[in-house]
Amino acid sequence: MTRTVIRRMDWTCGPDRSPGAPDGLLHEFQCTTCGDTGECSDDFETARDFTFQHTGRNPRHTGYREVVHRFWRMYRGS
Ligand SMILES: [Zn+2]
Repeated sequence: MTRTVIRRMDWTCGPDRSPGAPDGLLHEFQCTTCGDTGECSDDFETARDFTFQHTGRNPRHTGYREVVHRFWRMYRGS
């Protein structure tokens, strides 16, 4: 019989503040008709510009899904 011992560790999940991690939220819009995705940006207006440009080129594509990226990291300890 093989026995495995896994050490119990406490973890905490919190906002990712590690070097290089994005500072704050990132916004992104995706067309719900064709799946095309615009620029992912920390500026909401910049990300939303995609909807005007995309509908301008594709007048029947009027539905969008906003994807908000918030980065999290697991830390040891409580
Ligand atoms: Zn589209």
